Amino acid sequence: MRRALTVLFVLISAAAHAAGWTIMMHEGRRYVPLEDVTDFYKLNPPDVSGNSFTLTGQGRTIRGSAGSRELLINSVKYILCFDAVSKNAQIYLSAMDVTKIIEPVMRPGKIKNATDVRTVILDPGHGGHDSGARGPLGAEKDAALDVALRAKKILEIAGYSVRLTRATDTFIPLERRPAFANKFPNAIFVSIHFNKSNRIGGTGIETYALAPRGVPSMDEENLSYSDLKEYPGHGKDAENIALATSMHSSMLRHLRLVDRGIKRARFLVIRDARIPAILLEGGFMNHPNDSRQIASTAFRDAFAQAVLEGVNRYKSAVAGQMQYFKPSAVVAATDPTTAPELKPRTPPTPPAPVGSQTDMAQSVNEAAGALSGPRVEN
Ligand SMILES: [Zn+2]
Repeated sequence: MRRALTVLFVLISAAAHAAGWTIMMHEGRRYVPLEDVTDFYKLNPPDVSGNSFTLTGQGRTIRGSAGSRELLINSVKYILCFDAVSKNAQIYLSAMDVTKIIEPVMRPGKIKNATDVRTVILDPGHGGHDSGARGPLGAEKDAALDVALRAKKILEIAGYSVRLTRATDTFIPLERRPAFANKFPNAIFVSIHFNKSNRIGGTGIETYALAPRGVPSMDEENLSYSDLKEYPGHGKDAENIALATSMHSSMLRHLRLVDRGIKRARFLVIRDARIPAILLEGGFMNHPNDSRQIASTAFRDAFAQAVLEGVNRYKSAVAGQMQYFKPSAVVAATDPTTAPELKPRTPPTPPAPVGSQTDMAQSVNEAAGALSGPRVEN
């Protein structure tokens, strides 16, 4: 009974928050029309042509299309939680995407309780017997450590306190990395990695933020139990995407590589961090051009510079001092030939005891209903 009351209360709260938004249900999820988004953010009416749409105003240009999960905000690519949908001659975005991407990106200064940044935790991926991705010009663990050490130097000059999860070629178990980071107040966590594709051809940079509760990870179409679990990182959903935005656009400016977008995953290091956390993939170890760049000092210095600029931009964004700019060095199209290499998911945690299949369906609906109403207030 208490559970039923709690659910009812959550639904009523969600409905109250949703006032002013037209909610359309589609595949059990809540969607809102583009017109509501432009009204709310005081943008010009949507410019729709076939399946594509452009929203402009307030220093922003947002482009996307129905049937697609790609959304460009000021030329920075986001992979939406769910496809934009076309229905009854209108285009809709999932309420989850409005709440978890558009809102924190449009108004980072309104993120509640976002703290100032004084400490930056840099996490060079892998180490010791775990080399990470290997390419013709070296191993991921070495490139990641070198970039982190270069970033540390210039972050400190800029006045930040910097802590490294590893400063030498040592193996640090994954769970120790966020555990270490969680000890610091006013801190952010930046994990530095490089990619590898199974086939030759994968190229470009990507930035990962924790997938919000109820959103499938990038490589999954359907929800699984672990997608419904609440992780420590979920307390920072808004900060995570704001940090991913500043960092990814800075990387696009400094590293002349293909933009693979800002994506969602449940990698352990970002999942268990209680401070804003992201994971960067700075190019492919086994791509001819990427690997040449990654091996060069100029690229590693540029990467370090991008980290510093990303931290500065995040800091001013959450302080409400947003600068609008378009990344100047965007290389347009992603490489369509290769799927991004995603780390193997950690073994699924055993689900909380449930009675039947129906319970699973019900909890999916509860998560979708309770979590996806736009909770954006003026
Ligand atoms: Zn890695």
